Amino acid sequence: MSAPAHRYLSLGAGVQSSCLLLLAVRGEIPTFDAAVFADTGWEPTAVYAHLRRLERLAATAGIPVVRVSAGNIRADALDPAHRFASMPLFTLGPGGERGMARRQCTSEYKIRPIKVEVRRRLGYPHPTRVPAGVVAEMAIGISVDEIGRARDADVAYMRNVFPLLDLGWRRGDCLAYLTEHSLSDTPRSACVGCPYRTDTEWARLRQDDPAGWDDAVAFDAAIRHGSARANAAGHPLRGQFFLHRQRIPLDEVTLRPRQQEQPDAPGCGPWTCPHPESPPETAHGAAGAAQSEVRD
Ligand code: SF4
Repeated sequence: MSAPAHRYLSLGAGVQSSCLLLLAVRGEIPTFDAAVFADTGWEPTAVYAHLRRLERLAATAGIPVVRVSAGNIRADALDPAHRFASMPLFTLGPGGERGMARRQCTSEYKIRPIKVEVRRRLGYPHPTRVPAGVVAEMAIGISVDEIGRARDADVAYMRNVFPLLDLGWRRGDCLAYLTEHSLSDTPRSACVGCPYRTDTEWARLRQDDPAGWDDAVAFDAAIRHGSARANAAGHPLRGQFFLHRQRIPLDEVTLRPRQQEQPDAPGCGPWTCPHPESPPETAHGAAGAAQSEVRD
């Protein structure tokens, strides 16, 4: 297999991918042609501030940080004219059945725009066929403690590589390295209203980012009765959607953050989400409680 002529970083802007960028900037791993950040448009302000800091850092080593986007996940979810790329919402059926909506958002808002960008940079934008042997290397920030999440790319024109696994680094090694270089406050990257947040993370959002919390509360209320597009098309949700696992309005939840300091759950990187991916769009208003539902 020939060596890839293109080498990119999947920059989720969380601990591991920020660490990879820093390693490349400092010349400790081979550099990248670009670091690609897939922007859902709904990251916390701390993540965007961190990203601007990474952009300045990367520029010192001539690595462009490229932001790609498939739209604003929050606005799209509430837009009756937009297909609903289902978020992993908690569902409550009319008879009290508990479930979860299928997760399609990571694929739609993160993986897809990165693939579009890689194809463009390879010179074969969709729908042009990428010739066999034309391959871009995509570095993904998975550390040794997350090795089970390392996967091959699902397209022939990308080859996933895992520099942290090659180094034998764990998340703690990444944190120590970031701390050594004044990036100890690297935030967890995930949408403001991502239902995968723990109570500790919800409580932190409420305390540290009141505008973000209010935004999530408003979104939670707005999606209660399902996808705007499906409702507009006359397919109401048989049940309710919620952002919080307790399946009550977010601003009514009694949050129970853990008392001891715990490491954050992994953020939502394009290829590093710890939660299972779901198959493509399922029928709206399917049997059960929710549009695109799976069991909790
Ligand atoms: S952070 Fe959550 S809502 Fe946002 S893309 Fe990832 S899984 Fe979906």
